[in-house]
Amino acid sequence: MKKRDKKKSGLRFIRMQTVIVPFLLLTAALCFMQWNVPYKSREFLLEPDAEAVWTDDAAEQEPECMIFWQDDVNGTAGRELMEAVLGQMKIPYDTCEGKEAGDLDLDQFRTIVISMTNYALLDDTLLDIINWTSAGGGLMILYPPEVNGSFQSIAKYLGIEHIGNSYALVGGLHFAQEFMLGGDHDYEITDPYESSMTVALDRECEVYLESTGEYPVPLIWERSLGEGEAVVCNLGFLEKAYRGFYSSSYSLLRDVCAYPVINASTFYIDDFPSPVPQGESEYIQRDYGMNISDFYTNIWWRDIYNLAEEYGIRYTGLVIEQYSDQVSGPFERNSDTQRFRYFGNMLLDQGGEIGLHGYNHMPLCMTGFNYQGEYDGYRLWRNREDMEEALTELKGFCEELFPEENFRVYVPPSNILSPEGREALKEATDIRTIASVYLPEMLGISYDQEFEVAEDGIIETPRVISGYILDEYMQLAALSELNFHYVNSHFQHPDDTLDEDRGAEMGWEEMYGRLCDYTEWLYTAAPGIRNLTGTELAAAVQIYDDVRVTREYSEGSLKLTLDGYRGEAWIMLRFNEGIPGRAEGGSLEKLREGLYLLEAQESTVTISIE
Ligand SMILES: [Zn+2]
Repeated sequence: MKKRDKKKSGLRFIRMQTVIVPFLLLTAALCFMQWNVPYKSREFLLEPDAEAVWTDDAAEQEPECMIFWQDDVNGTAGRELMEAVLGQMKIPYDTCEGKEAGDLDLDQFRTIVISMTNYALLDDTLLDIINWTSAGGGLMILYPPEVNGSFQSIAKYLGIEHIGNSYALVGGLHFAQEFMLGGDHDYEITDPYESSMTVALDRECEVYLESTGEYPVPLIWERSLGEGEAVVCNLGFLEKAYRGFYSSSYSLLRDVCAYPVINASTFYIDDFPSPVPQGESEYIQRDYGMNISDFYTNIWWRDIYNLAEEYGIRYTGLVIEQYSDQVSGPFERNSDTQRFRYFGNMLLDQGGEIGLHGYNHMPLCMTGFNYQGEYDGYRLWRNREDMEEALTELKGFCEELFPEENFRVYVPPSNILSPEGREALKEATDIRTIASVYLPEMLGISYDQEFEVAEDGIIETPRVISGYILDEYMQLAALSELNFHYVNSHFQHPDDTLDEDRGAEMGWEEMYGRLCDYTEWLYTAAPGIRNLTGTELAAAVQIYDDVRVTREYSEGSLKLTLDGYRGEAWIMLRFNEGIPGRAEGGSLEKLREGLYLLEAQESTVTISIE
C-alpha cells in the first residue's frame, strides 16, 4: 500500500459510481419486499466437524530442528517465538539451553536455530555447529547477538566481512527480493530502536530483506556454507506480528520446505446488524450533510457491500440486540427490527453469515474483573445465569429475524471474555467458534488467541487486523500472517466512521480508500485465497490444526504423509533447489518464484523435484 495518490482516488470514485446502480436496484427490491426477505439457508463451503477435539501438539516425531536458547530476555522471547512458529508449521523441534549444548549429537538434526545473546555460552559447540552446517545442515541465526569474540569468530562463515561498533536504527523494511507474498512495497517500522547489526557482507550472500534508506542494512540474508546453508535474521523484532518473517526465513534453510496453512480470507463486521445511532456526527455532517442513519444505509453500507461484490468477500456480521448496560433480567426483546432485517438479509444474500456479539455490549465478565481503568461505561455481571439469560434472549431474537440460520460464531464485545462467559456461551447458544484477536494488546485484558481447536472443543479463529486506519504496523502484521498461515482476518465496525480514534476525522472517503488499498494488496498478493465466512474459517482452522505432517526427503522427490487428514489440506511449499514436477495425490499452484501452494487431495502426496 504505497502512499495513495489523487489519481487513484479518482479511479476509485468512478468505479464506485458504476456499482451504485445495481446497488440501488437491490436496495429498492429489498424495500419492495418489505424489508423481510425470507433468506433461504444455503450450504457452507466447509463445515466444522461436529467432533472438534483438541489434539495434543506434543511431537511424537523425531525432531527436525534444535533450538539453542539462552535464559535472558531476548533468548527466551526468541525461543517462544520459534516454538510457536515451528509448532504451527508442524515441524518437530526440540529445545536446549545453549550452555548445555555440548552433550548433544548434532547429526540427528536437519536444522538448528540459535536464539542466544551471548554466543560464548556455546563454547566449543559453536565451531561444531559451523562444521555441522558445512556438512549439509541448515543454520538460522534468530536475532542479532552481542558482538563479542565468539560471534566474531564465526562471522565470516555467515558471510559477514565487517561489523560496525554500533547497532542500526531501522526505520523501514525493503524486500531486496520478493521472497514473501505481498512484499511488493516497503514497510515503515513505527517503533524503531537500535535493532540490527551494521554489517558489510561478502558477495556470496543473498539478501532478501534490508532496511530502507540510502545505506541499507541487510536484515535477512542467506549464504551457502559448504554443503549447507546459513540464514541470518538481523531484524531484532521478536514479536507475534513478525512471525511470518521467521517462518519465511526458516523455509530458506533446506532444499525444500513444506508446511500446512489455513488458506482463508475472512472479513467480520462487528455490531452489525445492530441498532443504528440516532442523530448526527460531526464528520459525517461535514462531508455528506446527512444524519448517521442515512449515512449508514446510503454511503457506508453501499461501499462496504460493493467492495465485497468486487472481491467475492462474504462478511460475517455480529449482532447486538440493543445498547443498554443491563446485566440482569428480564431481558426484553427489541421490537425495532426493520433495519436488522434489511442489513442482515442483504449480508446473507451476498453469501455472508450472521453470528452473535451480545444482547448488549457488556463483555461477559463477572464482578471482580478488572478493566484496568478502561471502559468506564461497562458493568460487570453478577453470575453466569444472568449471562445465559441474556444470551438466550439474543439467540431467540436472531432466530426470529433469520429463521433459516444457525448462529455459531461469537465475537466478544471489545474482545474481552472471561472463562465464565465462555461457559455461558456453551450452555445457552450453539456457538462453536470464538473470533477475538490475534495480537496481544498493552493492557493485557483482551482475549488473544491462536488459530487452533481449544481444549474445550471451541474453535479459535482470531482476527489479525481491524478498522480503516490500517497503519503500517497492521499492514506488516497482515503480510506476516499471509505468509505464515496464508490467512487474512479483518474486522470493522460501522461506528468506526464516527470515532476519532478510529479515523473518523480523515473522512469516510479516505477511510474507505485505505480499506480498498488493503483489499487490492491482499488479492493481488494472494489472488487464489479462499473467501470464507466465520464458520467456514473455523472448519479450515480445524482441518489445519488436526493435520500432522511427516516429510520424507529423497533425491528427486518429497513425500508428505498427512495424519489427521480431513478430506482436504493446504500446504505451502518453498523450493530453494530445483522446481516441482508432478504432484501425486494433490495439485500445485505457483504463487511466486520458488513458492507454491499444494492442495492435498489425498493423505499422501508425492512431489517429484526436477
Ligand atoms: Zn462491538
